[in-house]
Amino acid sequence: KTGGPWITRFAPSPTGALHLGNVRTAILNHLLAKQSGGKFLLRLEDTDQERSTFAAEAAILWSMSWLGLVPDEPVRHQSLRLDLYRRAVDRLMAEGRAYPCFCTDAELEQDRKDAAAKNLPPRYSGRCARMSADERAEKLNRGDAHAIRFRLPEKTEVGFTDLIKGQVSIPAGAFGDFVLLRSNGWPSYNLAVVVDDADMGVNLVLRGEDHLTNTARQILLYDALRLTAPSFAHHGLLMDADGKKLSKRSGALSIPECMEMGLEPLAVVQYLASLSGALPTKNIFASRDEMARAFNPFALGRGNAVMSLDELNAL
Ligand code: GLU
Repeated sequence: KTGGPWITRFAPSPTGALHLGNVRTAILNHLLAKQSGGKFLLRLEDTDQERSTFAAEAAILWSMSWLGLVPDEPVRHQSLRLDLYRRAVDRLMAEGRAYPCFCTDAELEQDRKDAAAKNLPPRYSGRCARMSADERAEKLNRGDAHAIRFRLPEKTEVGFTDLIKGQVSIPAGAFGDFVLLRSNGWPSYNLAVVVDDADMGVNLVLRGEDHLTNTARQILLYDALRLTAPSFAHHGLLMDADGKKLSKRSGALSIPECMEMGLEPLAVVQYLASLSGALPTKNIFASRDEMARAFNPFALGRGNAVMSLDELNAL
């Protein structure tokens, strides 16, 4: 009833523990893959070398297995795939779709201030896009430190059909030329996600609506790299009963904390999946298969999901 088979993925950054908000995203992706006869994949987005830790990675893998969210292929690490990202950037550079950016932190900070003064969202001014070819060559020959940025096409309004939200349009000007490779040679989130989702055969990206602007950037990258973009679905965020971000007291729990509270994994999975209408009932299902059959992610309300610690505790 929801198309497919869907190849979905969960792509946490190992910079901290999974909390119930991102666990809910993982659960929705897992159920959708199972229900449609597809596959569920797990990718560790460990490209932020300063913030990624093995302890966080181990905790994520442990949490996923406690919840029974077992991936259908070996786990991928972005840190082991740097060649792929570099090759994609080389292609974009060769085609004039990307350029080196030599701006210092102080210059970028000034751009942010200028944008804020005009009440605009923070975005790159395009300083290095306008650099003459001679100046660029001279700096490159000298070995000056630089990032690589994507050159936005003239018309940057991006429209797409979201499987939950319907027609979405991100206006031109929501963002500027964005970074593809940092000056240390590591990829940005947006570049790595596009290269990997395409390479892994992901055909549906289901994630929180806080990623909508990233989706627009990623659609432009798929296009520039002549890759087929997946379908997209953005769910509302997990909030407390007052419509606020979850706090420790309202349910921002890690999975080890859920276990310590004596919660059953299947109950946690079902509770989070049932919020905002994707599962018709809150009765505990006898098995995961039964749960997957009853699940309809595209019935997810467009609004935020509201959780209550009391409800979770009462399971
Ligand atoms: N690593 C990103 C995050 O944790 C993944 C977002 C995505 O699903 O593309 O927010």
